[in-house]
Amino acid sequence: MHLSPSPSLEAICIEFYELVLNVQVLKSLRESLDEEINGDNQYFCDSCKERVDATRSIKLRSLPEVLNIQLKRCVFLPKTTTRKKITSAFCFPGELDMKERLSDVSCQLC
Ligand SMILES: [Zn+2]
Repeated sequence: MHLSPSPSLEAICIEFYELVLNVQVLKSLRESLDEEINGDNQYFCDSCKERVDATRSIKLRSLPEVLNIQLKRCVFLPKTTTRKKITSAFCFPGELDMKERLSDVSCQLC
């Protein structure tokens, strides 16, 4: 539930085999894992029935043996109905500690 002006907190629980991360206008893995959703890309809050600034954070309930991370380097352009490859630089840490991403956020699906 979103209590304006605090950021929206809604959890979606998904079983996955890899993380698929946005890279468009983002500079690093950290920015992709905690993506600011604002400007033209604001999040629609179902409680408030309006668009609000939000942060899309990826939290994991457990860590797999191997974590695949896929970068969404191709984006769809609605105006031209074509795809564009994102070729901007993207930074990764030398060492990635995903333990800080572990969270026991409850969800109805699990
Ligand atoms: Zn809200």
